[in-house]
Amino acid sequence: MMAESDAMPVRATKRGSERTPLSGERDVLICGASFAGLAIARELAGSGADVLIVDRYEIGERQTSACGIPTEWLARLGLMESERQRFDTLVMHTPHGTARYRLPWTFSTFDYRQLCQLLWRDCDATFETAKVNGRAAAANGDGRIAIETDRGTITAPLVVDALGWRRMLASGDGYQPPDAPLSRGLEVHPAGESEDLAIWIDRKYVPAGYGWSFPARDELRIGIGSFDPRFHVKDTTVELTHDLGKEPNEYQGNWIPHKLRRATEGGIFFAGDSAGHCLPLSAEGIRTALYFGMALGQELRGVVEGRQTRANAEANYASFHDTHEWKFKWMLRVQKLIPQVPPRILAPLIKLMSAKRFVNWSFTHYLRIAAPEYAGSKWVSRSADDQNSSGQQQDDADDAVGRERDLVEAEQA
Ligand SMILES: Cc1cc2nc3c(=O)[nH]c(=O)nc-3n(C[C@H](O)[C@H](O)[C@H](O)COP(=O)(O)OP(=O)(O)OC[C@H]3O[C@@H](n4cnc5c(N)ncnc54)[C@H](O)[C@@H]3O)c2cc1C
Repeated sequence: MMAESDAMPVRATKRGSERTPLSGERDVLICGASFAGLAIARELAGSGADVLIVDRYEIGERQTSACGIPTEWLARLGLMESERQRFDTLVMHTPHGTARYRLPWTFSTFDYRQLCQLLWRDCDATFETAKVNGRAAAANGDGRIAIETDRGTITAPLVVDALGWRRMLASGDGYQPPDAPLSRGLEVHPAGESEDLAIWIDRKYVPAGYGWSFPARDELRIGIGSFDPRFHVKDTTVELTHDLGKEPNEYQGNWIPHKLRRATEGGIFFAGDSAGHCLPLSAEGIRTALYFGMALGQELRGVVEGRQTRANAEANYASFHDTHEWKFKWMLRVQKLIPQVPPRILAPLIKLMSAKRFVNWSFTHYLRIAAPEYAGSKWVSRSADDQNSSGQQQDDADDAVGRERDLVEAEQA
């Protein structure tokens, strides 16, 4: 039985009489209000489109990740207020030793609820809590897509599935664990402090995958990710937590896709985990959900502003998505390779790879897969204009953007 402290957070979503029927037509329907969904809605702000975003939980209510992201992404998106802690070193533990990788860019942990609220603050969409059940039969052949929710059927010509790994709005292709290419992740959040952003590559915790401890000011986000969906990660999440002198609490976990899927299907657009945008090997899926979400939002904006057709948007977004395929495939290859390296070779290899030149080269390329520069600076200046954004936060944002730029330029020189 779960102890009191293990209980999941209390749901704040609408109940009973608050759950009035929901139906009608919208210009854009975004299903899922996490990283991908909110990034799309934000790009549509000011377009004049009637955008509805639905999620089974309130915005920011249900965190499912360790919430780590390259700092420059937070800075570029004007989200520095949500930053909890920043790191310039990654500590890699193996059974045979520890290596410290001094990163060419910094990595931050953030507060999920606050980040979602900051994204939402810039949106002008309508939000409703509703559980999406799937696609309903279209009423007519005018290109509108009907989506069934537990509060009624909503139609729109532009529909996005940002619902995560289940990819609910695709035509049932039986993508279920443990047979689908999914990793599994579980973590706990005990109170505590640490300076170390740490990873464990140790088969005692997981045969293929890694353990982590991501400090976030006053809590440690400790977890295990397994590339093999059949490996159950609960026991070793507890073990790693105990090894760090903590007691597990607030379990949260999810499946994590590690293979790209089609960007559009049956007239529906997919972004974030529903499109397999989480990076293999690192299981980093937040910045890519934001990145592809922004790209999709801009394409949809072109449609609602009458600059292109839905078919053009589908083709453009699919082509943008496809240009990244080789990078995802390459990461997946490394993901499959690492578990095959004998442990006694892995430790010296990891030490060797901590050489500054190699770390700079590899981590700079890794960041380029979804480069922060893609976000431009429009959100940075908006957050600077916002009275709630303190001068210190803006300085932090400027520092992060400037520092990353210097490092990338130095690396390219
Ligand atoms: C334990 C763990 C730790 C992780 N840590 C990190 C990390 O530190 N950094 C990182 O970059 N990535 C991390 N990831 C991966 C990352 O969480 C995902 O890649 C990312 O959340 C994908 O964002 P998304 O918006 O596509 O989907 P999600 O964040 O999964 O959001 C989907 C949304 O859809 C809603 N939804 C789902 N089904 C329905 C339905 N039927 N009806 C209505 N709403 C629905 C959900 O409530 C949710 O709000 C981690 C994953 C796990 C499991």
